[in-house]
Order: sequence, then C-alpha cells, then structure tokens
Amino acid sequence: MREIPILVVEDEVAICEMLHLALSKAGFSVEVATDVRQARRLLFNRPPSLILLDWMLPEISGIEFAKQLKKDAQTKLIPIIMLTAKGEETDKIKGLEVGADDYITKPFSPRELVARMKAVLRRTSPFLEDEHLVVENLRLDLAKHRVEIAEKEVSIGPTEFRLLQFFMQHPERVYSRNQVLDQVWGNNVYIEERTVDVHIRRLRKALAEHGYDHFVQTVRGVGYRFSTRPSL
Ligand code: CA
Repeated sequence: MREIPILVVEDEVAICEMLHLALSKAGFSVEVATDVRQARRLLFNRPPSLILLDWMLPEISGIEFAKQLKKDAQTKLIPIIMLTAKGEETDKIKGLEVGADDYITKPFSPRELVARMKAVLRRTSPFLEDEHLVVENLRLDLAKHRVEIAEKEVSIGPTEFRLLQFFMQHPERVYSRNQVLDQVWGNNVYIEERTVDVHIRRLRKALAEHGYDHFVQTVRGVGYRFSTRPSL
C-alpha cells in the first residue's frame, strides 16, 4: 500500500489532521482539500487512487460532487468512500446510488477506515501495487502513463492505454461495446461501437509482441473481458 495517493475532501480541520496523520502512518500519500474547488485542482494535478469524501461540505455537497465525479470519464473510475455524520439508511442508499463505493459513519476509528479503504482498493483494483497495475510481467504505470512488459516499454496509444487501464482495473468482468465506450470514452461522446473493436485490435497487437494479447478476450455475442484465465 506504499505511496498510494489518497485525496481527502473534508472541511473540518480536526478531522483532516486526524486523517492525514492516520493515513500517512498507514503508508498512504495523502492530500487534503477543504472544499470542492480545491479538490478539483488537486484531482487533476495528481489523480488519486481513492477519494475520501465528506458528505457535508460548504457550497457543493459531497454527494453532489460524487455525482459529478462519477459522470466524468476522467474521474469516474476513482473509487469514493463517503464520510458522514448521518447514519440514516436512506442517506447510505443515496450515497451508493450516485456511485460511492463505500460509506463510513462518523465517528470512526482510523483502523476501521484503513481496513475499509484497503477492501475498496482490493475490490476495485485487485492488480494495484503502489502506482502500478501489475499482472505477471505486464505493468501499467498510472503516474507516468507507461506500459511495460518484462521491464521493456511497450509502445501504446493514449486510447489503448485508457482501455488497458480500464480492463486491468475491472478484470474478470464482461463489458459490452457500449459499456466500454461509456467507461473509456465517456457517455457524452458519440462514437460507433465498431471503434471499440478497432482499439481492441490495436491493444492486442501491442500486447501480442510479448504474448499477452490473450488477456483481452472476446466474449461472443456480449463484448470483451480482461482475464488472466484462459478463454473458453
Ligand atoms: Ca463537513
């Protein structure tokens, strides 16, 4: 878990300090924003691997911000844990409905929070190690936007990089072309589904040189899947 970047969005200074201390001690690299505007700036400078987001924030609420983040192709894959004083079941459902990955009610112990964060990171990114996604000899560097196989850089276009990142973050699940378009290109863009096939082909070609193209599998009649198991 060393150096995994975490963004905390919380307006209460005492909680920010507590989180900064506890999470740094747990080996995370922590940045703190006290409002949404500051959070946006930090977010685009250095995309975090997880966001801890307070529900009650000045100006724009945490729930509204979560909704915006989950609509934006650039940020939708970043997992969010909502922090809140509200323990109401309906609020919890509301948080999960806008796409939050988990929910923790104040007051919480740092140890409980860290355990929940690790669980979310494992669930959303089973291949995550530091700032890399790693499967066998295939390494995708999230910070440097590089792909390496057996320590040699693979030449890969920006779309293929995003495709590979999406697949490595969501392994063993089948996605239709439409879902891939939505996740990788964003849902406001009109692109033909065939475009997905073109980029899948390019991605496979880049991986094939090193024999890793079999990770990107076609599921006939459904779509695509990233899997380390042999396709049937
Ligand atoms: Ca607050």
